[in-house]
Amino acid sequence: MITDFIIVGSGIAGLRAAIALAPAGRVLVLTKADPEESNTGYAQGGIAVAVGAGDSPALHAADTLRAGDGLCDEGAVDVLVGNGPRYVRELVDWGTRFDRDGDGQLALGREAAHSVRRVLHAGDATGREIGRVLWKRASAFGSVATINHAFVTDLVMGGGAVRGVHYVDRDGARHEVSARAVLLATGGAGQLFRETTNPPVATGDGIALGYRAGARLADLEFVQFHPTALNRAGAPRFLISEALRGEGARLVNDRGEAFMTRVHADGDLAPRDVVARAIAREMERTGAPVYLTLAHLDAGYVCARFPTIADMCRRIGLDLARDPIPVGPAAHYIMGGVDTDEWGRTSLPGLFAAGEVACTGVHGANRLASNSLLEGLVFGARAAIAMQEPPAAAALKADRVVAGGSWLASPQPPFISHLSPAEIRDLMWRSVGLFRTREGLEAAVATLDAAYQHQRDRLSIDADGWRQVNLVTAARLVARAALRREESRGAHFRLDFPVRDDEHWKRHIVDVRGAE
Ligand SMILES: Cc1cc2nc3c(=O)[nH]c(=O)nc-3n(C[C@H](O)[C@H](O)[C@H](O)COP(=O)(O)OP(=O)(O)OC[C@H]3O[C@@H](n4cnc5c(N)ncnc54)[C@H](O)[C@@H]3O)c2cc1C
Repeated sequence: MITDFIIVGSGIAGLRAAIALAPAGRVLVLTKADPEESNTGYAQGGIAVAVGAGDSPALHAADTLRAGDGLCDEGAVDVLVGNGPRYVRELVDWGTRFDRDGDGQLALGREAAHSVRRVLHAGDATGREIGRVLWKRASAFGSVATINHAFVTDLVMGGGAVRGVHYVDRDGARHEVSARAVLLATGGAGQLFRETTNPPVATGDGIALGYRAGARLADLEFVQFHPTALNRAGAPRFLISEALRGEGARLVNDRGEAFMTRVHADGDLAPRDVVARAIAREMERTGAPVYLTLAHLDAGYVCARFPTIADMCRRIGLDLARDPIPVGPAAHYIMGGVDTDEWGRTSLPGLFAAGEVACTGVHGANRLASNSLLEGLVFGARAAIAMQEPPAAAALKADRVVAGGSWLASPQPPFISHLSPAEIRDLMWRSVGLFRTREGLEAAVATLDAAYQHQRDRLSIDADGWRQVNLVTAARLVARAALRREESRGAHFRLDFPVRDDEHWKRHIVDVRGAE
């Protein structure tokens, strides 16, 4: 099959790109599950944008840079916050029903590390509402075709450029599609970890696809662990949005003590990584769960403002407004990904990336809450503009370190005949999670190296096999980068190197296939 543009993924980045590309040619959107199954569909808190009185793109940029802990790309941040208002207004014009206050003005929520209220929301199901509008608009173009349950397994290369993709359909048949340009909009990688807020589709496929094709990857060691996922045995790690703390919810230990006041000046609204580690330590110290309590807030308001979360709690027998809700950290967002410039161009001509799979540099070492929907929106639209130009590789920044395998202290991989997805997730959670050490990371890398080698030997596989290969590939890359960075910064915390070290590590770690 031949088309003009291929988009892999139907989240906010892919759909926004499809809308922008539709007037320019035939667009094929391939998505591996039902179209609404994406991180976008689960986004609760909202979309951060400088539209309120007293706010400005400069203030939004300052908050984003502070959260990024010295590693944000300032040019990319300016693009994000400067273009955000325009693209969000467009969403409103297209019919997105963001909540409004009593005067009919857009209601602005507060989230951690934002200096002002700036988060637009649609109840606590903002992503679903934005996805609904984008999907409706993209589907209205005759030039946009969609194939669901189409699992993209590889990029087709020709003359050093990306020329198309291979995908496996729901019946297991293999297809090849050629195009002028391919956009990776495959979302996140939370499923690399045992505890995650991400849906099953978030297996880091885009990272693996990019890596196999030879695209440059960056910042993969930076994985954000959300502090407050539901922590109840047998229940999914459903996200309990930070917006609850923004509205006054408090974190307490089993004795009812608000322990965050001991840990950080911003208390419950300290940066996510600080809160996540504090919760894990408090649970270890007390040997008991940590809770989020809203009992001091107006019950009617709580249930009206957070209906989806209240409903989820009700289903497991908890009253969000009255009961202490057990919470704990879970993998939530990956800051790194396929390295791009400010237009979504990657190191390979013909290949573009936008949304969570991309590393534009806007998040640095830690993402500011609610900046990712905005990133998908802004950079999805911009990538679509660049995709219409003659193919060219991005001129990517040079202040980087390449992470290969040769520097490893213990390159003796154990013999691995098979590593199941559950074993990978368990290993990643234990050794590449909130608290990292050289010893744990070396063991994880050695195990994943061996598993990767084993998978590579068996490539005549179906979609399930590819899922497994992608998990191993992405997990190995994240673990390698985490081992390489010998400092603590943003979401990356090394017990053996607990402080930030600007002298050696105010740089980015990149990885490219063949670097080992
Ligand atoms: C529970 C939760 C709450 C969140 N809340 C917020 C929030 O309030 N505000 C905020 O800004 N961010 C939030 N985030 C993060 C945000 O939702 C995501 O970062 C963002 O939606 C990612 O959008 P995307 O378009 O890049 O990818 P996604 O929305 O994840 O879409 C990825 C798409 O790619 C498809 N895909 C993947 N691999 C393949 C393949 N091999 N072949 C074909 N298709 C493939 C998937 O099926 C999916 O359609 C939240 C995330 C979660 C999980």
